[in-house]
Amino acid sequence: MKCPYCGEEMEQGVIQSPHEIAWKNKRSYIGRAKFHKGSIVLSKLSMLEGSAVIANCCRKCEKIIIDYKDGSCDINQER
Ligand SMILES: [Zn+2]
Repeated sequence: MKCPYCGEEMEQGVIQSPHEIAWKNKRSYIGRAKFHKGSIVLSKLSMLEGSAVIANCCRKCEKIIIDYKDGSCDINQER
């Protein structure tokens, strides 16, 4: 994927966690994302492997982009 800021090729990697990875409109300490209105689950939790999303990094612009279209960023969902 090309960086939308500078146009150079981005470096693909992962962001992983022992917990679910989700976007929410504000910080919360309890409850999975599905209990928070408007949340976006980027990677469902796998009890064996945790969760991980594909993330593209541009070191020059210091940006990290997660393309979550159709859940394609979720490594657990690829299998
Ligand atoms: Zn860039």
